[in-house]
Amino acid sequence: MPQICPKLLADPGPAAEPFARETIRRLGQVRAQLGRRALILGHHYMSDAVIGWADAVGDSLALSRLAATQKEAEFIVFCGVHFMAETADILAGQGRRVILPDGGAGCPMADMAAPEQVEQCWQELARLGHGPIIPITYVNSSARLKAFCGRHGGAVCTSSNARAVLAWALGQGRRALFFPDQHLGRNTALALGLTPREIAMWRRDAAVLEGEAAQARVIVWDGFCPVHVEFGPADVARARARQAGVKVVVHPECPSQVVALADDSGSTEKIIGLVEAAPAGSAWAIGTEINLVRRLAARFADKTIFSLNESVAGCPDMAKISPTNLLASLEAILDGKPRGVVGVDEATARQAAVALERMFAVS
Ligand code: SF4
Repeated sequence: MPQICPKLLADPGPAAEPFARETIRRLGQVRAQLGRRALILGHHYMSDAVIGWADAVGDSLALSRLAATQKEAEFIVFCGVHFMAETADILAGQGRRVILPDGGAGCPMADMAAPEQVEQCWQELARLGHGPIIPITYVNSSARLKAFCGRHGGAVCTSSNARAVLAWALGQGRRALFFPDQHLGRNTALALGLTPREIAMWRRDAAVLEGEAAQARVIVWDGFCPVHVEFGPADVARARARQAGVKVVVHPECPSQVVALADDSGSTEKIIGLVEAAPAGSAWAIGTEINLVRRLAARFADKTIFSLNESVAGCPDMAKISPTNLLASLEAILDGKPRGVVGVDEATARQAAVALERMFAVS
């Protein structure tokens, strides 16, 4: 479940700039005025300056569930990126509006699978006689792709439940088409016991299937997360040399060579759970977005926690959400002129909800 977050930043401290202090003061005021009319959700990759204002903090799955079940708020203010706000809008149902404080906060990985490209791939695979295929989309994708999966008997997955969803898909059809993240798709297929020869890759620009088509059981799209692909096998070796006994844990959006060398891999919620349960004095090198790693290091001062590669920058899209645009979003709600509303049309939302419900049923 998402963590309910204390308002850590209510007092910015004496070092804060006057501008920041004023923003924080206003945020406190506006937040109090809105009360339960607004629910602020914060993804783990948000900066500390934003996350302190979230009513609940979690990964995509946890926050999606909350959007689906928490019916009280009129507005869900999503401190995350566009696909998350779309997913919340699909699940929140009518009568509630989802706000993204910066409309430009997207996800480059999600953008690597355009619906037209996926349609083209789907038709080509059918023409080549590769069916029946079950499409699986990572939650990091547009609502239109979730709807595509809903229409074609497929499902959505997150990094928390990719294994269960892919196993379900392989139980339904001869093959699964997994998009947009090649690494999550490959890592999950390998974890299920498939061999590398049973995993092919669709090259979106060339529109060709790479690998042994006849053997393939999982076809992965060639998308990737620009942040997580920065972690490499050499980083694992460096972390082990730096700290004796360190446990290396990485997100499954990292390349499979890194996952194979790590001690464990999993979603942000799993990573947090591992660190929480670890004894004092243990050491962790973590391969995921830096804001989460820094927050864990601050929260568990009795453990040694560092990034698997400290030169890997945070996600630039997540960083677009700031106290300033969060404040502007809340003020706009208060003024009766909400801005940054993310809406999914009814037909798309209905089909996407089918794929999301299949995910909830399986996981
Ligand atoms: S961290 Fe990667 S997958 Fe997540 S929003 Fe940023 S680019 Fe997309």
